[in-house]
Amino acid sequence: MLSPAATTTTSPVHAPTCLSVSARAGRFRPARAMAASDDSRSASAPARSVAIVGAGVSGLAAAYRLRKRGVQVTVFEAADRAGGKIRTNSESGFLWDEGANTMTESELEASRLIDDLGLQDKQQYPNSQHKRYIVRDGAPTLLPSDPIALMKSTVISTKSKLKLFLEPLLYEKFSKRNSGKVSDEHFSESVGSFVERHFGKEVVDYLIDPFVAGTSAGDPESLSMRHAFPALWNLENKYGSVIAGAILSKLSSKGDSVKTGGALPGKGRNKRVSFSFHGGMQSLIDALHNEVGDSNVKLGTEVLSLACSCDGVSSSGGWSISADSKDAKGKYLKKNQSFDAVIMTAPLSNVQRMKFTKGGAPFVLDFLPKVDYLPLSLMVTAFKKEDVKRPLEGFGVLIPYKEQQKHGLKTLGTLFSSMMFPDRAPNDQYLYTSFIGGSHNRDLAGAPTTILKQLVTSDLRKLLGIEGQPTFVKHIHWRNAFPLYGHNYDSVLEAIAKMEKNLPGFFYAGNNKDGLAVGSVIASGSKAADLVVSYLESRTNQDS
Ligand SMILES: Cc1cc2nc3c(=O)[nH]c(=O)nc-3n(C[C@H](O)[C@H](O)[C@H](O)COP(=O)(O)OP(=O)(O)OC[C@H]3O[C@@H](n4cnc5c(N)ncnc54)[C@H](O)[C@@H]3O)c2cc1C
Repeated sequence: MLSPAATTTTSPVHAPTCLSVSARAGRFRPARAMAASDDSRSASAPARSVAIVGAGVSGLAAAYRLRKRGVQVTVFEAADRAGGKIRTNSESGFLWDEGANTMTESELEASRLIDDLGLQDKQQYPNSQHKRYIVRDGAPTLLPSDPIALMKSTVISTKSKLKLFLEPLLYEKFSKRNSGKVSDEHFSESVGSFVERHFGKEVVDYLIDPFVAGTSAGDPESLSMRHAFPALWNLENKYGSVIAGAILSKLSSKGDSVKTGGALPGKGRNKRVSFSFHGGMQSLIDALHNEVGDSNVKLGTEVLSLACSCDGVSSSGGWSISADSKDAKGKYLKKNQSFDAVIMTAPLSNVQRMKFTKGGAPFVLDFLPKVDYLPLSLMVTAFKKEDVKRPLEGFGVLIPYKEQQKHGLKTLGTLFSSMMFPDRAPNDQYLYTSFIGGSHNRDLAGAPTTILKQLVTSDLRKLLGIEGQPTFVKHIHWRNAFPLYGHNYDSVLEAIAKMEKNLPGFFYAGNNKDGLAVGSVIASGSKAADLVVSYLESRTNQDS
């Protein structure tokens, strides 16, 4: 969203439940339509087909990987377009993203996918991407990008700066404090409490609050540290100090990559840098959709029920999926299709509405807890350049909740869309993307366009000296923009694990499980595909 989505830190700790899977070539027979060939597969093994529910980026990444491994796929998508929370639109010379605006390559699978799809030439890097602003005392203040800049910055006080620099010395090793055991309290600690212990309240209010609002629409108190920032949570357990731990683990990973050698996907590209694609984030979706094959992606087809024919004794079984789709005249048609396995990537709130049966008996999902989703509105506005009196170069500005309260600001922040990507607006205009809602302001996310237009214009007036009214306005309301990785997220992950364990051939992937960032969900879909390949292989072995 607004900040570079820190993929490594947003992935929850829980890896997919089943075995860890190597990417060996599958032994089952590839579907006839597949372009991929793999001579190691047994010609006599039956063709395998997999259903994927959801054509968001995780579902498409899973489908792409399965197709590469010679598996026939059918992707069911309830909406009439692929992409889920990734969607680009254009009109009157403007081009804007309505969901994810940028991504990073911090997950290896994201780099691999970009390389495999041949999308390197389409990657579009924002101008002055390291110039990001935080509102302090009512005005945008440049976020320091290195320790020296931090010393000079006015974003936090001298006392907080000292606390940051002294953290490695002051913070005793966690394992010493607790004789190596992680306490219950620590397990369920919020992001706010964790960061306050290490760096103080001002860092929570002015750096962490806007960061988490910018990446997940959440707030530091509602988010669980262990689920929202597992990498930092683990650093404390291992090293005590988060800063010392980050430096030491970076040094040791440098050593590892020297030892490993070889060309890794995305080699030479900076894994932390945010980017989009020429034509917006939709270019990634279009490339995936194209590779998976239009005929394999069933748009406007909502999965209603899933039946596993497994008997509860053997560890395998087939699946029958019933879905609703519209015919050319808009009439609803119900269809049943059979598959060997299922990858579910629909949000859990949608899964809760689906009917599951196992061996003919209902498989009731009453153990699946309610997931809290955060609502968000995106306002895309454009202004004549001459009407923007204090334009800022860079990525965008984030507004800490404290500053929103003190200065009557209503937006979470704004991306300087055409400063980042000048080809996205006519030459005489600036394009902005502002965010409203999230966990601090749930009700405001659902406000009508006229109200939101006023609020955004008022905030931009205060921050950038904008005069007059926008020349262009688009409003996109996401009722369930992000799942909140809150304090109950263990029970959510346990419920997913229970489904995967009790329903043979059922795998779950996507942003309700493995992190919110685009790179994380690509990794999630790709890993689920590998697990399916292993599962199908084990079934082939059982059958032969
Ligand atoms: C406003 C916004 C801004 C964001 N900004 C960024 C950013 O800048 N950087 C970043 O890294 N991440 C960002 N994200 C997060 C990221 O975009 C998402 O986490 C990611 O795209 C989710 O992908 P997914 O495949 O897991 O789920 P989704 O995209 O939600 O896909 C799930 C799909 O399942 C379909 N579905 C649901 N029920 C059924 C059913 N019964 N039958 C068939 N299909 C069904 C849905 O229609 C949907 O298409 C942003 C998200 C939002 C909302």
